[in-house]
Amino acid sequence: MTDSNKICEFCNVNFKNKYGPELGEFFLELHETLDLKKTKYKKIDISNFKVICPNCHKIEHEKMRMRKPMDNNV
Ligand SMILES: [Zn+2]
Ligand SMILES: [Zn+2]
Repeated sequence: MTDSNKICEFCNVNFKNKYGPELGEFFLELHETLDLKKTKYKKIDISNFKVICPNCHKIEHEKMRMRKPMDNNV
């Protein structure tokens, strides 16, 4: 991970600046933007991932759930 990857892509909070280099590194999560159910092959492609903080990550999954009310998979 580079320093630029320690910024949440959604709220732009720099966790390295906010919590220090050690904590900031562990705080961010990877969110996969591809809908795996619509993808026939499971290929890990880093361009399909967003670096995102836990708060925004939860919100993104809430949005995905709202778009697909029958889908309870997280
Ligand atoms: Zn965020
Ligand atoms: Zn996710």
